[in-house]
Amino acid sequence: MTIETRNLIAGDWLDGAGTIANVNPSDITDIIGHHAQATTSQLDDAVAAARIAQQAWWDAGIQKRHDVLMAIGTEMMARAEDIGTLIAREEGKPKAEGKGEVYRAGQFFTYYAAEALRQIGDHAQSVRPGIEIDVRREPVGVVAIISPWNFPVATPSWKIAPALAFGNAVIWKPANLTPASAAAIAEIINRQDIPKGLLSMLAGPGAEIGQRLVEHRGVDAISFTGSVPVGRGIAAAAMASMTKVQMEMGSKNPMIVMDDADLDLAVSHCSNAAFGATGQKCTAASRLIVHADVHDAFVEKLAVAAQAFKVGHALDDGTQIGPVVSEAQLNSNLGYIVTGKAEGAELICGGGRVEARTDGHYMAPAVFAGTTNDMKINREEMFAPITCVMKAHSYAEALAIANDSEFGLTAGIMTTNLARANHFRANMRAGTLMVNLPTAGTDYHVPFGGRGASSFGPREQGQYAVEFYTTVKTTYLSGGDPA
Ligand code: NAD
Repeated sequence: MTIETRNLIAGDWLDGAGTIANVNPSDITDIIGHHAQATTSQLDDAVAAARIAQQAWWDAGIQKRHDVLMAIGTEMMARAEDIGTLIAREEGKPKAEGKGEVYRAGQFFTYYAAEALRQIGDHAQSVRPGIEIDVRREPVGVVAIISPWNFPVATPSWKIAPALAFGNAVIWKPANLTPASAAAIAEIINRQDIPKGLLSMLAGPGAEIGQRLVEHRGVDAISFTGSVPVGRGIAAAAMASMTKVQMEMGSKNPMIVMDDADLDLAVSHCSNAAFGATGQKCTAASRLIVHADVHDAFVEKLAVAAQAFKVGHALDDGTQIGPVVSEAQLNSNLGYIVTGKAEGAELICGGGRVEARTDGHYMAPAVFAGTTNDMKINREEMFAPITCVMKAHSYAEALAIANDSEFGLTAGIMTTNLARANHFRANMRAGTLMVNLPTAGTDYHVPFGGRGASSFGPREQGQYAVEFYTTVKTTYLSGGDPA
Protein backbone atom coordinates (compact mmCIF):
# COMPACT_ATOMS: atom_id res chain seq x y z
CA MET A 1 0.00 0.00 0.00
CA THR A 2 1.46 3.37 -0.95
CA ILE A 3 0.84 6.48 1.08
CA GLU A 4 0.96 9.74 -0.86
CA THR A 5 1.12 12.62 1.58
CA ARG A 6 0.80 16.35 1.25
CA ASN A 7 1.62 19.19 3.57
CA LEU A 8 -0.89 20.76 5.92
CA ILE A 9 -0.79 24.47 5.20
CA ALA A 10 -3.14 26.86 6.98
CA GLY A 11 -5.71 24.08 7.40
CA ASP A 12 -5.52 22.64 3.87
CA TRP A 13 -3.60 19.62 2.51
CA LEU A 14 -1.59 20.94 -0.44
CA ASP A 15 0.89 19.74 -3.04
CA GLY A 16 4.21 21.56 -3.21
CA ALA A 17 7.29 21.81 -5.37
CA GLY A 18 7.67 18.16 -6.32
CA THR A 19 7.84 15.15 -4.06
CA ILE A 20 10.36 12.90 -2.37
CA ALA A 21 10.17 9.11 -2.25
CA ASN A 22 9.63 7.57 1.18
CA VAL A 23 11.76 4.40 1.18
CA ASN A 24 11.45 1.54 3.66
CA PRO A 25 14.95 1.04 5.14
CA SER A 26 14.11 -2.61 5.86
CA ASP A 27 13.42 -3.21 2.16
CA ILE A 28 14.55 -0.59 -0.29
CA THR A 29 12.28 -2.05 -2.99
CA ASP A 30 9.30 -1.02 -0.84
CA ILE A 31 8.50 2.59 -1.77
CA ILE A 32 6.06 3.57 0.96
CA GLY A 33 4.88 6.57 -1.00
CA HIS A 34 5.83 10.11 -1.87
CA HIS A 35 5.66 13.27 0.13
CA ALA A 36 5.17 16.79 -1.17
CA GLN A 37 7.94 19.30 -0.58
CA ALA A 38 6.60 22.59 0.71
CA THR A 39 7.56 25.89 -0.85
CA THR A 40 8.71 28.98 1.00
CA SER A 41 5.61 30.90 -0.09
CA GLN A 42 3.46 28.15 1.45
CA LEU A 43 5.47 28.65 4.62
CA ASP A 44 4.62 32.36 4.56
CA ASP A 45 0.92 31.47 4.20
CA ALA A 46 1.16 29.02 7.10
CA VAL A 47 2.78 31.60 9.39
CA ALA A 48 0.20 34.26 8.48
CA ALA A 49 -2.66 31.86 9.27
CA ALA A 50 -1.01 30.73 12.49
CA ARG A 51 -0.80 34.30 13.78
CA ILE A 52 -4.58 34.69 13.41
CA ALA A 53 -5.38 31.18 14.69
CA GLN A 54 -3.22 31.66 17.78
CA GLN A 55 -5.31 34.54 19.09
CA ALA A 56 -8.54 32.59 18.57
CA TRP A 57 -7.05 29.55 20.30
CA TRP A 58 -5.95 31.61 23.30
CA ASP A 59 -9.36 33.24 23.48
CA ALA A 60 -11.08 29.82 23.38
CA GLY A 61 -9.93 29.19 26.96
CA ILE A 62 -8.49 26.40 29.02
CA GLN A 63 -11.45 23.98 29.00
CA LYS A 64 -11.42 23.96 25.21
CA ARG A 65 -7.68 23.42 25.09
CA HIS A 66 -7.95 20.62 27.63
CA ASP A 67 -10.69 18.86 25.68
CA VAL A 68 -8.88 19.09 22.34
CA LEU A 69 -5.59 17.81 23.74
CA MET A 70 -7.36 14.98 25.54
CA ALA A 71 -9.09 13.94 22.30
CA ILE A 72 -5.81 14.01 20.36
CA GLY A 73 -4.00 11.96 23.00
CA THR A 74 -6.80 9.44 23.32
CA GLU A 75 -6.93 8.88 19.56
CA MET A 76 -3.17 8.53 19.31
CA MET A 77 -3.13 5.88 22.02
CA ALA A 78 -5.99 4.04 20.34
CA ARG A 79 -4.12 4.11 17.02
CA ALA A 80 -0.73 3.10 18.43
CA GLU A 81 -0.80 -0.13 16.43
CA ASP A 82 -1.41 1.33 12.97
CA ILE A 83 0.71 4.47 13.29
CA GLY A 84 3.39 2.44 15.10
CA THR A 85 3.50 0.03 12.18
CA LEU A 86 3.91 2.99 9.84
CA ILE A 87 6.86 4.25 11.89
CA ALA A 88 8.41 0.78 11.73
CA ARG A 89 7.99 0.81 7.97
CA GLU A 90 9.47 4.25 7.28
CA GLU A 91 12.02 4.62 10.11
CA GLY A 92 12.97 0.98 10.67
CA LYS A 93 12.46 0.50 14.41
CA PRO A 94 10.81 -2.80 15.40
CA LYS A 95 7.02 -2.68 15.29
CA ALA A 96 6.62 -3.01 19.08
CA GLU A 97 8.86 0.02 19.59
CA GLY A 98 6.92 1.99 17.00
CA LYS A 99 3.70 1.14 18.80
CA GLY A 100 5.21 2.11 22.14
CA GLU A 101 6.36 5.41 20.69
CA VAL A 102 2.88 6.37 19.47
CA TYR A 103 1.30 5.38 22.78
CA ARG A 104 3.85 7.52 24.61
CA ALA A 105 3.14 10.40 22.23
CA GLY A 106 -0.54 10.13 23.16
CA GLN A 107 0.42 10.32 26.82
CA PHE A 108 2.17 13.64 26.18
CA PHE A 109 -1.12 15.04 24.92
CA THR A 110 -3.23 13.72 27.81
CA TYR A 111 -0.61 14.94 30.31
CA TYR A 112 -0.60 18.44 28.82
CA ALA A 113 -4.39 18.43 28.59
CA ALA A 114 -4.31 18.50 32.39
CA GLU A 115 -1.52 21.08 32.43
CA ALA A 116 -3.74 23.38 30.33
CA LEU A 117 -6.09 23.60 33.30
CA ARG A 118 -3.33 24.18 35.84
CA GLN A 119 -2.67 27.79 34.84
CA ILE A 120 -2.41 29.62 38.13
CA GLY A 121 -0.38 32.80 38.42
CA ASP A 122 1.11 34.77 41.33
CA HIS A 123 -0.16 37.70 43.29
CA ALA A 124 2.17 40.14 45.02
CA GLN A 125 1.79 43.22 47.16
CA SER A 126 3.50 46.34 45.89
CA VAL A 127 6.10 48.24 47.88
CA ARG A 128 3.87 51.23 47.09
CA PRO A 129 0.60 51.41 49.07
CA GLY A 130 -2.60 51.11 47.04
CA ILE A 131 -1.07 49.08 44.25
CA GLU A 132 -1.38 45.34 43.64
CA ILE A 133 0.66 43.16 41.33
CA ASP A 134 -0.20 40.03 39.45
CA VAL A 135 2.17 37.81 37.50
CA ARG A 136 0.67 35.64 34.80
CA ARG A 137 1.80 33.51 31.92
CA GLU A 138 0.73 34.14 28.34
CA PRO A 139 1.49 32.16 25.17
CA VAL A 140 4.71 33.02 23.44
CA GLY A 141 2.83 33.13 20.10
CA VAL A 142 3.72 31.17 16.96
CA VAL A 143 6.18 28.35 17.69
CA ALA A 144 8.37 26.70 15.05
CA ILE A 145 8.96 23.04 15.82
CA ILE A 146 11.73 21.21 13.97
CA SER A 147 12.07 17.50 14.63
CA PRO A 148 14.38 14.65 13.58
CA TRP A 149 13.55 11.21 12.15
CA ASN A 150 14.57 8.94 15.01
CA PHE A 151 11.46 9.52 17.15
CA PRO A 152 9.25 10.90 14.39
CA VAL A 153 6.06 10.95 16.48
CA ALA A 154 7.18 11.19 20.12
CA THR A 155 9.56 14.14 19.66
CA PRO A 156 7.13 16.46 17.87
CA SER A 157 4.40 15.39 20.32
CA TRP A 158 6.39 16.42 23.39
CA LYS A 159 6.74 19.83 21.72
CA ILE A 160 3.33 20.29 20.04
CA ALA A 161 1.36 19.20 23.13
CA PRO A 162 2.75 21.86 25.52
CA ALA A 163 2.76 24.46 22.73
CA LEU A 164 -0.99 23.99 22.21
CA ALA A 165 -1.77 23.50 25.91
CA PHE A 166 -0.34 26.92 26.74
CA GLY A 167 -2.18 28.66 23.90
CA ASN A 168 0.32 28.81 21.04
CA ALA A 169 0.05 28.08 17.31
CA VAL A 170 2.55 25.70 15.70
CA ILE A 171 4.46 25.49 12.44
CA TRP A 172 6.01 22.04 12.37
CA LYS A 173 8.80 20.89 10.08
CA PRO A 174 9.29 17.13 10.37
CA ALA A 175 12.30 15.26 8.98
CA ASN A 176 12.12 14.30 5.32
CA LEU A 177 12.91 10.64 6.13
CA THR A 178 9.68 10.14 8.09
CA PRO A 179 6.89 12.15 6.42
CA ALA A 180 4.06 9.58 6.55
CA SER A 181 3.89 9.27 10.34
CA ALA A 182 4.15 13.07 10.53
CA ALA A 183 1.17 13.43 8.20
CA ALA A 184 -0.77 10.88 10.29
CA ILE A 185 -0.49 12.84 13.50
CA ALA A 186 -1.00 16.21 11.80
CA GLU A 187 -4.24 14.77 10.43
CA ILE A 188 -5.42 13.78 13.91
CA ILE A 189 -4.68 17.25 15.28
CA ASN A 190 -6.17 19.11 12.31
CA ARG A 191 -9.42 17.11 12.52
CA GLN A 192 -10.19 18.59 15.95
CA ASP A 193 -12.39 21.63 16.48
CA ILE A 194 -9.53 24.12 16.35
CA PRO A 195 -8.97 27.42 14.53
CA LYS A 196 -7.96 26.88 10.90
CA GLY A 197 -4.20 26.96 10.59
CA LEU A 198 -3.46 26.50 14.30
CA LEU A 199 -1.08 23.72 13.26
CA SER A 200 0.69 23.64 9.92
CA MET A 201 3.01 20.80 8.95
CA LEU A 202 5.51 21.40 6.15
CA ALA A 203 8.13 18.91 5.03
CA GLY A 204 10.98 19.98 2.83
CA PRO A 205 14.74 20.28 2.72
CA GLY A 206 16.11 21.55 6.03
CA ALA A 207 18.38 24.05 4.33
CA GLU A 208 15.38 25.65 2.54
CA ILE A 209 12.14 25.26 4.51
CA GLY A 210 13.88 24.79 7.86
CA GLN A 211 16.20 27.73 7.37
CA ARG A 212 13.39 30.01 6.15
CA LEU A 213 11.31 28.98 9.15
CA VAL A 214 13.96 29.84 11.72
CA GLU A 215 14.63 33.18 10.04
CA HIS A 216 10.92 34.05 9.73
CA ARG A 217 9.93 37.26 11.47
CA GLY A 218 6.43 35.86 12.11
CA VAL A 219 7.84 33.14 14.37
CA ASP A 220 8.15 33.92 18.08
CA ALA A 221 9.97 30.82 19.34
CA ILE A 222 11.86 27.83 17.93
CA SER A 223 12.03 24.37 19.47
CA PHE A 224 14.57 22.16 17.72
CA THR A 225 15.73 18.58 18.17
CA GLY A 226 18.49 17.38 15.90
CA SER A 227 22.22 17.48 15.34
CA VAL A 228 24.71 19.96 16.79
CA PRO A 229 25.81 21.54 13.49
CA VAL A 230 22.22 22.29 12.46
CA GLY A 231 21.50 23.51 16.00
CA ARG A 232 24.39 25.97 15.86
CA GLY A 233 22.99 27.46 12.64
CA ILE A 234 19.52 27.74 14.16
CA ALA A 235 20.91 29.45 17.27
CA ALA A 236 22.66 32.02 15.07
CA ALA A 237 19.46 32.68 13.10
CA ALA A 238 17.44 32.96 16.30
CA MET A 239 19.88 35.43 17.83
CA ALA A 240 19.74 37.61 14.73
CA SER A 241 16.00 38.07 15.17
CA MET A 242 15.97 37.79 19.00
CA THR A 243 13.71 34.75 18.77
CA LYS A 244 13.34 32.53 21.83
CA VAL A 245 15.05 29.19 21.20
CA GLN A 246 15.27 25.77 22.80
CA MET A 247 17.44 22.99 21.39
CA GLU A 248 18.10 19.32 22.16
CA MET A 249 21.03 17.99 20.19
CA GLY A 250 23.80 15.41 20.16
CA SER A 251 25.27 13.19 22.83
CA LYS A 252 28.02 10.77 23.74
CA ASN A 253 26.41 9.18 26.77
CA PRO A 254 28.68 7.28 29.17
CA MET A 255 27.79 4.29 31.35
CA ILE A 256 30.17 3.44 34.18
CA VAL A 257 30.34 -0.20 35.28
CA MET A 258 31.96 -0.58 38.69
CA ASP A 259 33.65 -3.67 40.13
CA ASP A 260 30.79 -3.99 42.64
CA ALA A 261 28.05 -4.01 39.96
CA ASP A 262 25.76 -6.91 39.19
CA LEU A 263 27.65 -7.81 36.01
CA ASP A 264 24.84 -9.58 34.17
CA LEU A 265 22.49 -6.67 34.84
CA ALA A 266 25.22 -4.26 33.67
CA VAL A 267 25.65 -6.19 30.42
CA SER A 268 21.91 -6.25 29.86
CA HIS A 269 21.44 -2.52 30.53
CA CYS A 270 24.54 -1.47 28.56
CA SER A 271 23.70 -3.60 25.53
CA ASN A 272 20.09 -2.45 25.45
CA ALA A 273 21.11 1.18 25.87
CA ALA A 274 23.79 0.91 23.19
CA PHE A 275 21.93 -1.06 20.53
CA GLY A 276 18.22 -0.43 21.09
CA ALA A 277 16.64 1.43 18.16
CA THR A 278 19.80 0.54 16.18
CA GLY A 279 21.77 2.95 18.38
CA GLN A 280 19.80 5.84 16.87
CA LYS A 281 18.74 7.37 20.17
CA CYS A 282 20.10 10.57 21.59
CA THR A 283 20.14 8.69 24.92
CA ALA A 284 22.10 5.68 23.59
CA ALA A 285 25.11 4.51 25.64
CA SER A 286 28.11 4.93 23.38
CA ARG A 287 30.97 5.06 25.94
CA LEU A 288 31.15 2.16 28.41
CA ILE A 289 33.69 2.85 31.16
CA VAL A 290 34.41 -0.38 32.96
CA HIS A 291 36.45 -1.07 36.11
CA ALA A 292 39.63 -3.02 35.31
CA ASP A 293 38.74 -5.85 37.73
CA VAL A 294 35.59 -6.77 35.77
CA HIS A 295 36.62 -5.42 32.37
CA ASP A 296 37.52 -8.66 30.58
CA ALA A 297 34.50 -10.57 31.88
CA PHE A 298 32.26 -7.64 30.94
CA VAL A 299 33.61 -7.39 27.37
CA GLU A 300 33.20 -11.14 26.88
CA LYS A 301 29.58 -11.08 28.07
CA LEU A 302 28.81 -7.90 26.12
CA ALA A 303 30.03 -9.49 22.90
CA VAL A 304 27.77 -12.49 23.51
CA ALA A 305 24.81 -10.14 24.16
CA ALA A 306 25.56 -8.01 21.08
CA GLN A 307 25.70 -11.04 18.81
CA ALA A 308 22.50 -12.48 20.27
CA PHE A 309 20.37 -9.56 19.07
CA LYS A 310 18.17 -10.53 16.16
CA VAL A 311 18.76 -7.97 13.39
CA GLY A 312 16.08 -7.95 10.74
CA HIS A 313 13.08 -6.45 9.00
CA ALA A 314 11.30 -4.05 11.32
CA LEU A 315 7.93 -5.65 10.67
CA ASP A 316 9.06 -9.24 11.31
CA ASP A 317 8.08 -10.86 14.60
CA GLY A 318 11.13 -11.43 16.74
CA THR A 319 13.21 -8.59 15.27
CA GLN A 320 15.05 -6.80 18.07
CA ILE A 321 17.16 -4.42 15.98
CA GLY A 322 15.87 -3.00 12.73
CA PRO A 323 17.90 -1.49 9.90
CA VAL A 324 19.85 1.75 9.98
CA VAL A 325 17.57 4.55 8.78
CA SER A 326 19.25 5.28 5.42
CA GLU A 327 22.09 4.38 3.11
CA ALA A 328 23.90 7.60 4.03
CA GLN A 329 23.64 6.85 7.75
CA LEU A 330 24.84 3.26 7.19
CA ASN A 331 27.85 4.50 5.23
CA SER A 332 28.66 6.94 8.02
CA ASN A 333 28.44 4.09 10.57
CA LEU A 334 30.71 1.83 8.52
CA GLY A 335 33.12 4.76 8.21
CA TYR A 336 33.35 4.93 12.02
CA ILE A 337 34.26 1.23 12.09
CA VAL A 338 37.18 2.00 9.76
CA THR A 339 38.10 5.04 11.86
CA GLY A 340 38.02 3.06 15.12
CA LYS A 341 40.30 0.38 13.78
CA ALA A 342 42.68 3.00 12.37
CA GLU A 343 42.78 4.68 15.78
CA GLY A 344 43.91 1.38 17.36
CA ALA A 345 40.62 0.21 18.87
CA GLU A 346 39.93 -3.53 18.85
CA LEU A 347 36.72 -4.53 17.10
CA ILE A 348 35.38 -7.33 19.29
CA CYS A 349 32.29 -8.11 17.24
CA GLY A 350 29.89 -6.76 14.61
CA GLY A 351 30.44 -3.65 12.56
CA GLY A 352 29.57 -5.06 9.15
CA ARG A 353 26.52 -5.27 6.94
CA VAL A 354 24.05 -8.04 7.71
CA GLU A 355 22.25 -10.07 5.07
CA ALA A 356 18.53 -10.36 5.73
CA ARG A 357 15.53 -11.71 3.82
CA THR A 358 15.10 -8.30 2.18
CA ASP A 359 17.52 -5.73 0.81
CA GLY A 360 17.82 -3.19 3.63
CA HIS A 361 20.40 -1.14 5.53
CA TYR A 362 21.26 -3.80 8.09
CA MET A 363 24.29 -3.59 10.35
CA ALA A 364 25.61 -5.93 13.05
CA PRO A 365 25.88 -4.28 16.51
CA ALA A 366 29.53 -3.47 17.10
CA VAL A 367 31.65 -3.49 20.25
CA PHE A 368 35.02 -1.76 20.30
CA ALA A 369 37.36 -2.49 23.22
CA GLY A 370 40.78 -1.09 24.06
CA THR A 371 39.55 2.41 23.29
CA THR A 372 40.66 5.68 24.86
CA ASN A 373 38.58 8.78 25.41
CA ASP A 374 40.59 10.87 22.98
CA MET A 375 39.66 8.67 20.01
CA LYS A 376 37.17 10.09 17.50
CA ILE A 377 34.86 7.14 18.16
CA ASN A 378 34.63 8.32 21.78
CA ARG A 379 34.28 12.02 20.99
CA GLU A 380 31.94 12.28 18.00
CA GLU A 381 28.31 11.31 17.99
CA MET A 382 27.97 8.32 15.67
CA PHE A 383 24.21 7.68 16.08
CA ALA A 384 25.01 4.05 15.26
CA PRO A 385 24.82 0.56 16.79
CA ILE A 386 28.43 0.94 17.89
CA THR A 387 29.63 1.14 21.49
CA CYS A 388 33.14 1.68 22.82
CA VAL A 389 34.56 0.16 26.00
CA MET A 390 37.22 1.96 28.04
CA LYS A 391 39.07 0.58 31.05
CA ALA A 392 39.28 2.55 34.34
CA HIS A 393 41.23 1.60 37.46
CA SER A 394 39.13 3.44 40.02
CA TYR A 395 35.75 5.13 40.45
CA ALA A 396 37.46 8.55 40.34
CA GLU A 397 39.12 7.75 37.02
CA ALA A 398 35.85 6.43 35.58
CA LEU A 399 34.00 9.59 36.60
CA ALA A 400 36.72 11.82 35.12
CA ILE A 401 36.48 9.97 31.77
CA ALA A 402 32.69 10.14 31.82
CA ASN A 403 32.81 13.91 32.39
CA ASP A 404 35.42 14.48 29.68
CA SER A 405 33.07 15.22 26.78
CA GLU A 406 31.60 18.28 25.08
CA PHE A 407 28.17 16.63 25.54
CA GLY A 408 26.12 16.05 28.68
CA LEU A 409 22.72 14.57 27.88
CA THR A 410 22.39 11.31 29.86
CA ALA A 411 24.86 9.29 31.92
CA GLY A 412 24.60 6.12 33.95
CA ILE A 413 26.40 4.11 36.61
CA MET A 414 26.06 0.45 37.49
CA THR A 415 27.03 -0.01 41.12
CA THR A 416 25.74 -1.55 44.34
CA ASN A 417 27.77 0.95 46.39
CA LEU A 418 25.54 3.70 47.77
CA ALA A 419 28.43 6.10 48.35
CA ARG A 420 29.51 5.84 44.71
CA ALA A 421 25.94 6.20 43.47
CA ASN A 422 25.47 9.33 45.57
CA HIS A 423 28.80 10.81 44.54
CA PHE A 424 27.96 10.15 40.88
CA ARG A 425 24.60 11.89 41.30
CA ALA A 426 26.31 14.97 42.67
CA ASN A 427 29.32 15.10 40.36
CA MET A 428 28.35 13.76 36.95
CA ARG A 429 27.82 16.71 34.60
CA ALA A 430 24.78 15.68 32.56
CA GLY A 431 21.13 16.68 32.46
CA THR A 432 19.72 13.18 33.03
CA LEU A 433 21.33 10.53 35.27
CA MET A 434 20.58 6.84 35.61
CA VAL A 435 21.69 4.67 38.53
CA ASN A 436 21.47 0.94 37.80
CA LEU A 437 19.36 1.74 34.74
CA PRO A 438 20.15 2.11 31.01
CA THR A 439 20.95 5.64 29.77
CA ALA A 440 17.91 5.39 27.49
CA GLY A 441 14.34 5.30 28.77
CA THR A 442 12.73 8.37 30.35
CA ASP A 443 9.32 9.33 31.73
CA TYR A 444 7.01 11.95 30.23
CA HIS A 445 6.07 14.01 33.30
CA VAL A 446 9.53 15.23 34.36
CA PRO A 447 12.07 17.48 32.64
CA PHE A 448 14.36 16.09 29.96
CA GLY A 449 17.48 17.71 28.60
CA GLY A 450 21.23 18.01 28.85
CA ARG A 451 24.22 20.24 29.32
CA GLY A 452 27.08 21.46 27.16
CA ALA A 453 26.60 20.89 23.43
CA SER A 454 23.64 18.56 24.10
CA SER A 455 21.10 21.23 24.97
CA PHE A 456 20.45 24.93 24.85
CA GLY A 457 17.65 26.91 26.45
CA PRO A 458 14.87 25.88 28.83
CA ARG A 459 14.11 22.22 29.55
CA GLU A 460 11.49 20.20 27.69
CA GLN A 461 8.72 18.03 29.15
CA GLY A 462 6.82 17.97 32.41
CA GLN A 463 5.84 21.20 34.09
CA TYR A 464 9.23 22.69 33.16
CA ALA A 465 8.00 23.07 29.55
CA VAL A 466 5.91 26.07 30.62
CA GLU A 467 9.08 28.15 30.75
CA PHE A 468 9.66 27.91 27.02
CA TYR A 469 6.09 27.93 25.73
CA THR A 470 4.93 30.94 27.72
CA THR A 471 6.07 34.44 28.49
CA VAL A 472 5.56 36.14 31.85
CA LYS A 473 3.56 39.32 32.26
CA THR A 474 3.68 41.45 35.42
CA THR A 475 0.74 43.84 35.87
CA TYR A 476 0.63 46.68 38.45
CA LEU A 477 -2.91 47.62 39.37
CA SER A 478 -3.97 50.78 41.14
CA GLY A 479 -7.69 50.95 41.94
CA GLY A 480 -7.57 54.64 42.76
CA ASP A 481 -9.79 56.31 45.31
CA PRO A 482 -13.17 54.48 45.71
CA ALA A 483 -14.87 57.61 47.02
P1 NAD B 1 19.39 16.96 11.68
O1 NAD B 1 20.01 18.00 12.54
O2 NAD B 1 20.06 16.63 10.41
O3 NAD B 1 17.89 17.36 11.31
C1 NAD B 1 16.95 17.67 12.30
C2 NAD B 1 15.84 18.51 11.68
O4 NAD B 1 16.40 19.79 11.33
C3 NAD B 1 15.25 17.92 10.41
O5 NAD B 1 13.86 18.17 10.38
C4 NAD B 1 15.97 18.70 9.33
O6 NAD B 1 15.26 18.76 8.11
C5 NAD B 1 16.06 20.08 9.97
N1 NAD B 1 17.09 20.97 9.40
C6 NAD B 1 18.20 20.62 8.71
N2 NAD B 1 18.87 21.74 8.33
C7 NAD B 1 18.18 22.81 8.80
C8 NAD B 1 18.37 24.21 8.76
N3 NAD B 1 19.43 24.77 8.15
N4 NAD B 1 17.48 25.01 9.37
C9 NAD B 1 16.42 24.47 10.02
N5 NAD B 1 16.15 23.15 10.08
C10 NAD B 1 17.05 22.32 9.48
O7 NAD B 1 19.22 15.66 12.61
P2 NAD B 1 18.65 14.24 12.21
O8 NAD B 1 19.70 13.54 11.41
O9 NAD B 1 17.29 14.36 11.66
O10 NAD B 1 18.54 13.55 13.66
C11 NAD B 1 19.64 13.02 14.32
C12 NAD B 1 20.20 14.01 15.33
O11 NAD B 1 19.19 14.38 16.25
C13 NAD B 1 21.30 13.42 16.18
O12 NAD B 1 22.36 14.32 16.29
C14 NAD B 1 20.65 13.22 17.55
O13 NAD B 1 21.50 13.25 18.64
C15 NAD B 1 19.68 14.31 17.58
N6 NAD B 1 18.61 14.03 18.54
C16 NAD B 1 18.66 14.65 19.75
C17 NAD B 1 17.70 14.40 20.72
C18 NAD B 1 17.75 15.10 22.05
O14 NAD B 1 16.72 15.17 22.72
N7 NAD B 1 18.89 15.59 22.48
C19 NAD B 1 16.67 13.51 20.44
C20 NAD B 1 16.64 12.89 19.21
C21 NAD B 1 17.62 13.17 18.25
